Amino acid sequence: DVVVVGSFNVDHVWRTDALPAPGATHGGEYASGPGGKGFNQATAAARSGARTAFVCALGDDVGGQLARALATADGIDLRDQRSPSPTGTAGIFVDAQGRNSIVIGPGANACLDTGFIDAQRDTIAAAGVTLAQLESPIEAVTAALRHARDTGRLAMLNPAPANVAVPRDLLAMADLLTPNETECAGLFARHLGERIDGDAVAYLDSPRLHALCRDLLPGGTVVITLGAAGCFVSHPDNATRGDDTAWYRLGAETVAVVDTTGAGDAFSGALAAALATRPGEPFAALLRDASRYAALSTERPGAATAMPTREEVAARFGG
Ligand code: ADP
Repeated sequence: DVVVVGSFNVDHVWRTDALPAPGATHGGEYASGPGGKGFNQATAAARSGARTAFVCALGDDVGGQLARALATADGIDLRDQRSPSPTGTAGIFVDAQGRNSIVIGPGANACLDTGFIDAQRDTIAAAGVTLAQLESPIEAVTAALRHARDTGRLAMLNPAPANVAVPRDLLAMADLLTPNETECAGLFARHLGERIDGDAVAYLDSPRLHALCRDLLPGGTVVITLGAAGCFVSHPDNATRGDDTAWYRLGAETVAVVDTTGAGDAFSGALAAALATRPGEPFAALLRDASRYAALSTERPGAATAMPTREEVAARFGG
């Protein structure tokens, strides 16, 4: 089983010719749908075939009702803290060139508290993997991963978005970290004093990247996602999770990309599901399937709604 602790947002998206300047009014084409890194990852885990619980905070409003309906449709066990604040929202304008302006109202997501997390302790203890991100309060995320750790379960952190700093005591709770390049550069800067441009992470020579990952997370595995360039894996030398080597690069699948929004969420959710449902297999085999899952998600628009099922992944890339 997988427990995902994180955010749910209702995304409101307007496609307009140009982004509105102050005082301007534009016409645009409107669409709305579910989002939030937590919900995206929970959807990916569930559609990858893992029994999935999603721990979040929702408002007593239509956004909360949407979350409940969608969770039910995907067989997700929703554990929602009811908040007096509105359900999280994102307002997104996209212009004809694909540029965007975004406002996020965390709303209820900011209210997820450690008391509610503590009440989920038995669920976390019973699940193979607990996965969290940084769109919820750091104290709640830290408490969730600590419960996983304390009960010998795998604590997985997707340290996103990049503008949220990861404190040392949260990092210390993670057995597995899945940053993208920008998030990785931020972690190296904050915790190791290493200044590397986000886009340059993929081009560091591998032994050096491995050494930096070992300094960052001495006891755990770091998987750096590199978009179309795949990912880089760094295990502790004495705990390679069934892999032959402590570090390696894995290429991405070649796909016809439509929208990469949520690719990282697809990857983390699918990897959590693989770890929970296929514990004996080499990490590299699980990673390959997570990367296929993420690649297929980029062939469809949207985030949570774009998550494929494991049957669709098998049909596309073989079993
Ligand atoms: P994020 O969405 O967090 O920025 P990445 O862009 O690194 O994360 O993507 C996460 C994973 O999704 C990659 O490691 C890769 O497996 C897959 N992926 C992303 N973009 C592509 C792409 N253009 N082609 C194939 N796979 C992709």
